[in-house]
This record gives sequence, C-alpha cells and structure tokens, in this order.
Amino acid sequence: MPDLTAFSLQGRCALVTGASRGIGAAIAAGLAAAGATVFGLSRSGTAPQAVTAIACDLADDAAIRRAFTQVARLDILVNAAGISLPAGQADELQRFRTTVATDLTGVYATILAAYPLLKQAGGGSIINVTSINSVRGFPGNPGYVAAKAGLAGLTRALAADYARDGIRVNALAPGYVATEMTAGSYADPAMHEDRRRHTMLGRWGQPDDMVGAAIFLASPASAYVTGQELFVDGGWTAKGLAISTDRTS
Ligand code: NAP
Repeated sequence: MPDLTAFSLQGRCALVTGASRGIGAAIAAGLAAAGATVFGLSRSGTAPQAVTAIACDLADDAAIRRAFTQVARLDILVNAAGISLPAGQADELQRFRTTVATDLTGVYATILAAYPLLKQAGGGSIINVTSINSVRGFPGNPGYVAAKAGLAGLTRALAADYARDGIRVNALAPGYVATEMTAGSYADPAMHEDRRRHTMLGRWGQPDDMVGAAIFLASPASAYVTGQELFVDGGWTAKGLAISTDRTS
C-alpha cells in the first residue's frame, strides 16, 4: 500500500517568494492547504489567505536577511519570485543585469539566508521555479533565458552541496501559465494560439496546475528526488513535431 500521508505537509513550515500573485500565490496557498505554515514574501507584502505576508525586495541582500529573522523554523523554501524584461530597449545591458539580479542572484541570496534554518530543522526541500526557458532558446529575452538556465545549474550545484545536510534541491519548470507576467501574450490572439498549439495538451497552464508538483517536491513523497528539474509544461519541452492529436480548442 502506498503511504499517502507522505504527501502531507502537516507540521512543516514553508516560505514562498513571489507569493503576492500568480504561480507563487497558488503554490503558497497549496502548501497551506496541504498542512504547512506558510510565509509569503514579495515587494508588495501581500499574500493569499492563510499565508503570512512579508514585504521584501529580493534585490536587497540586507532586506532578505531581515525577512528570515521573522521565521523561527523552516522546512521548505520555494523560490517563485521572478521578473521578465524583454530585450530591444536602449538600456539592454541594464535590463539583463536587473533580470539576472532578481531571477538568479536574488534566488541564491534567498537560499543562503534560508540555509541555516533548513539545516537547523534537520533537512528540508528547496524548490526553484525555473522555466522552459532553462532548456530552450527563446528569442528576445536573453537575460531571462540566461537566468533560468543558470538557476537550473544552481539547482544541481546546491543539490550536491546540501545533500549532506538532508536538504533536497529541485526545480519546477512551468510552461506558459496565465499570470500577470504573460498577460500580453495571453491577450494577443496570435501569440495566445501559438503558445497553446506548442503544447501537447493543447492549452495554457493555470497557476493551480503548478501546485501538485510543488506539494510533491516539498513533501516526503519525493524523499529520493534531488537535483531534478520537473517540467510542468503541458508537454512543451517533450514535443517534437506538431502531432495529429493536437487539440484545436
Ligand atoms: P507574476 O505574476 O509577475 O508574479 C511575480 C511575483 O514575483 C510577484 O509575486 C512579485 O511580487 C514577485 N517579485 C518580483 N520581483 C520581486 C522582487 N525583486 N522581490 C520580491 N518579489 C518579487 O509572475 P508569475 O508568472 O507568477 O511567475 C512566477 C515565477 O514563475 C517566476 O519565477 C517566473 O519566471 C516563473 N515562470 C512563469 C511562467 C509563466 O508563464 N507565467 C513560465 C515559466 C516560469 P511583487 O510585485 O509584489 O514584488
């Protein structure tokens, strides 16, 4: 008989960055529904019901360290905060730096601040939200593609470094998900359809589609999983040619 209690997060404490909206908010609410006590971090300092909000800008190392002083115990860290600044502007290099500072360096700064607490808890789970951009060369956004590829590498590096502490480190890689970040392409009929057809399942993802994978990676159900990147992308990265079963709606 499988032990389904292994998926429970009862008695665990989690911190989710980017919890004010979109994917981070859905994951924060999902971890709370699975039994965890959840803190949600963002610049605006808002979070779903049942999640304790902390205001913090991940571009500010000192603010990150201060944020973690509000957390007494930590078993689970989900790094979902992120920005996307498409290229093609005059200040291209600065946009690249800002993207990498938030989506890669900001994640590492958060992990370094969380590490003593995870170690003190006797181990835990870190989940980095990457993207299909970590393994595909999307046009027009080199900072984002580079940051997400770097974050996938950081995930494997830290899985190796932290295994001795019982801390597992994995990545959750969403495909196109309907959030504020993708509002432009979601609203544009041609872009919307292009992205929909690129999946196997024939639809955009919703933030709630990310929750099951997050609970799995956060919980003892994934006790033997570390250093992995789990693609929750409707089949985007696995797809070869367009297939005859492509859904049309
Ligand atoms: P979103 O709706 O724009 O939400 C981004 C979140 O990050 C917000 O909660 C935002 O809160 C927070 N954030 C941004 N910059 C921050 C900073 N400097 N400090 C603290 N918090 C910050 O985006 P999303 O689509 O949910 O994306 C969530 C994650 O999934 C990101 O890492 C993104 O790269 C990744 N992802 C998204 C998709 C997609 O299709 N949507 C696909 C693949 C990967 P505040 O504005 O309040 O600070």
